[in-house]
Amino acid sequence: MTGPASSSGVSHLLLLGAASLAIGAGPSTAHSAPEGGHPAEVERHAALLPFVDMHAHIEIDDPVRAVQAALRAMPGENAVRIVLLPPPFTESDRGRYDAELLLPAIAGHADRLVAFGGGGTLNPMIHEAVRTGDAGPAVQRRFRERAEQLLRQGVAGFGELAAEHFPGATPYQSAPPDHPLFLLLADIAAEHRVPIVLHMEAIARVMPLPAGMGSSPGKSEAAANVDAFERLLAHNPRSRIIWAHAGWDGTGERTPALCRRLLQAHPNLSMDVKVDPAKPGRNPPLGPGPDPSLSPEWLALFRDFPDRFVVGTDQHYPEPASGTQRWEAITALLNRLPPELQRKMGMENAARLLSREDPHR
Ligand SMILES: [Zn+2]
Ligand SMILES: [Zn+2]
Repeated sequence: MTGPASSSGVSHLLLLGAASLAIGAGPSTAHSAPEGGHPAEVERHAALLPFVDMHAHIEIDDPVRAVQAALRAMPGENAVRIVLLPPPFTESDRGRYDAELLLPAIAGHADRLVAFGGGGTLNPMIHEAVRTGDAGPAVQRRFRERAEQLLRQGVAGFGELAAEHFPGATPYQSAPPDHPLFLLLADIAAEHRVPIVLHMEAIARVMPLPAGMGSSPGKSEAAANVDAFERLLAHNPRSRIIWAHAGWDGTGERTPALCRRLLQAHPNLSMDVKVDPAKPGRNPPLGPGPDPSLSPEWLALFRDFPDRFVVGTDQHYPEPASGTQRWEAITALLNRLPPELQRKMGMENAARLLSREDPHR
């Protein structure tokens, strides 16, 4: 520890015992710097064990500065690797970017930063195909060409794609997860042994669109998508699909019970875990407050599927100037897990998903 432990820090240590501390590779307690915009009394807790963040984003007004901000933040988080993804953009989004912007920005930092691609190009192609109803051979050929171009450029996975996305950094988007282009992407990803990161609010039965979905004119209902998601998962068992944002549920239907059923049925499914301290949503794995408790239902799920969860903070860099950062919520969660789970969810599962080796061979 490089700083004195606060009272809540002490309780973390007591909770986890000394054994897990001995394994850590130099976790630090980073005190918020005034220039970071955090109140001086707030202590920010690094993960006790090093971890890989499989899901983060940069602000693109100055990509190099954003990447520097991520690199500077990593020791304070005890993050050893961060996967940066373009968000799931729509075609008309003026901020749209893809790997062509990310890859040069992370050049020289391949040991610590990884880029996924497709959020700025493949995702708009999917949603355009939904809009026009054309997913014919010419559209599929262009889609495959772009996906393979991204891989040649050096992305290590596809993302962030959206099947059902409520407005946030990007507008409302909806596409059936078993759309022909999603199925094609599963095939391409399987051929090249890279994972796909998919954002999909869970909708078991058709439901009225929640208020505030203003960017979907004429649309009043959200279509059910869980069955179609299962068809995507079953389409190519060699594809590896990371269902983004376990623990951050906008509909109330992404319960631990649903996650459990899908993990049981589909060995090629993984999930990245997100906790948003500002907008926890439904079914969060961490309770509120400065010393939050871990949901027993989520813990049971992590224990029963220890190889299927990774960390996906959805942190943006540079860090937003105010409030608790998303990475802080995830390190709080990790630090409440048994050391074996911290290791698997923090490191080992991510290493497997980022490896191009084919376990079936
Ligand atoms: Zn997302
Ligand atoms: Zn994201």
